[in-house]
Amino acid sequence: MVVWGIMVVRMRHTKSHTANRRSHHALKGAGLFVCEHCKALKQGHTVCPACGFYRGRKVIDMVKKTEKKQKKEKAKKAAEGK
Ligand SMILES: [Zn+2]
Repeated sequence: MVVWGIMVVRMRHTKSHTANRRSHHALKGAGLFVCEHCKALKQGHTVCPACGFYRGRKVIDMVKKTEKKQKKEKAKKAAEGK
């Protein structure tokens, strides 16, 4: 007597069927767009790293940011020099 303990999957998945289904699973690369303010290449849905604008609005004050960065570097150099 045979006891059917485990359910058997009725339909067999062929390799081609699996590959066919997975043919839509690929990820697209991150889109690069031209900034509408400074025309530099930037990543989509991000603040422009060159001018700090996003969708025509100033989000980051890049002048202040670079000034701050330079100040920080100067302080670091001065600390190293001692
Ligand atoms: Zn820009």
